[in-house]
Amino acid sequence: MVKYKQRCFVCKKNMVLVTSRTRFPICYDCQKNDLHVEVKNKKMKKMFDIPEEFYKESLFLRSIKLNYIRFGKLSAKQIEWFKKIVDEMKKTKS
Ligand SMILES: [Zn+2]
Repeated sequence: MVKYKQRCFVCKKNMVLVTSRTRFPICYDCQKNDLHVEVKNKKMKKMFDIPEEFYKESLFLRSIKLNYIRFGKLSAKQIEWFKKIVDEMKKTKS
């Protein structure tokens, strides 16, 4: 997938790494407060417990977590994608 940078939709200041499928690029700074909500579900909490830099780098991971915070659930596909992206990021970091 082609990745490129676009200015944040909200602050119009920071650059966000996006793909052609991204509709609204929003930077980490603008989503930070919404992201730091305590997740009560133990299973989900464990899944979201990844290095903060992953959230900084990936709009996708941020949007999945925000989706969960907003709606209290995720589809099997979203969970699968989240884990897949985290695995890939872990691989490139090590
Ligand atoms: Zn922003």
